[in-house]
Amino acid sequence: MSGKEKDFIDEAFADNWVVPLGPNVTGFEKDLEAFFIHDSLPRIPSGERTAYEKKRIVALSSGTAALHLGLVALGVGRDDEVMVQSFTFSASANPVTYVGATPVFVDSEPDTWNMDPDLLDRAIADRLQKTGRKPKAIIPVHLYGMPAKIDRIVEVAAKWEIPVLEDAAEAFGSDFKGRPCGTFGTYGALSFNGNKMITTSGGGALICPDDEAYKLVLSYATQSREDYPWYQHERIGFNYRLSNISAGIGRGQMTIAHEHIAHHRHVQDLYRDLFADTPGITLHENPGHDFDSNFWLCTTTFAPGIRIKGDDGCGRPEAMRRHLQAKGIESRHLWKPMHLQPVFSGCAAYVNGVSEDLFGRGLCIPAGPWVGRDEVCRVAEAIKEAIES
Ligand SMILES: *Cc1c(COP(=O)(O)O)cnc(C)c1O
Repeated sequence: MSGKEKDFIDEAFADNWVVPLGPNVTGFEKDLEAFFIHDSLPRIPSGERTAYEKKRIVALSSGTAALHLGLVALGVGRDDEVMVQSFTFSASANPVTYVGATPVFVDSEPDTWNMDPDLLDRAIADRLQKTGRKPKAIIPVHLYGMPAKIDRIVEVAAKWEIPVLEDAAEAFGSDFKGRPCGTFGTYGALSFNGNKMITTSGGGALICPDDEAYKLVLSYATQSREDYPWYQHERIGFNYRLSNISAGIGRGQMTIAHEHIAHHRHVQDLYRDLFADTPGITLHENPGHDFDSNFWLCTTTFAPGIRIKGDDGCGRPEAMRRHLQAKGIESRHLWKPMHLQPVFSGCAAYVNGVSEDLFGRGLCIPAGPWVGRDEVCRVAEAIKEAIES
């Protein structure tokens, strides 16, 4: 927390704006638009600026709500198919089912860990052949903050004339070729859940292509109430607007957003130094100059050749997790791919083994505002200790 969050909340109480609209909601949206749109404008190629400048951002109650309304705004509905990155948190895929559509999963590539653009292309061709219809949308994810090859994904999408709904929930502050993640697709979803780069305690936002789309999403988010003196509804609506209290936290957080991002990158730098001469441990790093991850979470993979103490067949990540747990250090498995989840077992999937391999040998290690040099040293030491050979 920056300390300013409470001031914005106090203002909301003083003015009795304890509702899902008000000056904090509007102010937070302006802050987000400054961060994503106006501040990055000089870095956008001049030919693309006119379209870029038109983008607007709607504050919503969660990242999941943002993805849901993105699908609604794109007209995705019953019996449609949506191409979704398999290697992700379930919230990327769940909203597809909320609109009565079906996710079709696409595996990742080894360098970014995100949707493989060539596999996506082949998968779309195959869906068209098998079902006679094109998928209605594509949901790539910038996992752990690492930018996907979003230019290639957008290219494939344009070729097939399918819109992209970018899941940038973990990528607040990540850039691809100097442009913020979340601004490449027709729509881009952000999350401000408690564990994300900035938080509103719970919240999200949808980056919209223009003012018209902004108004449409805003209307859906507020029960699709039409502009009449009485309650008039012409579409099914949702109650997805961000509360003015939560938005106050968001405004406070925006004053330190750049510091948070810099700190996450700093933690990654520290791990890099400490693991520099440890064979068998690979930090997930930017695969090239086009990529500028926010390193929301620091993630490692263990080389197939190494043995970890206590691995009784539970696998390297689990053995390491237990070892760290015993030392009071929390770590987590990488996301289990959606095509391996029982709940999505009936869905089509285009797999190449990458996400399954990563899930079998990777781990998220401590990162975040409370993790400093001392903690990183302690974690790195504990990890090295667990490597038997
Ligand atoms: C957190 C997250 C979401 C959902 O955001 P909420 O605000 O928690 O609803 C969606 N996708 C990914 C990849 C996430 O990490």
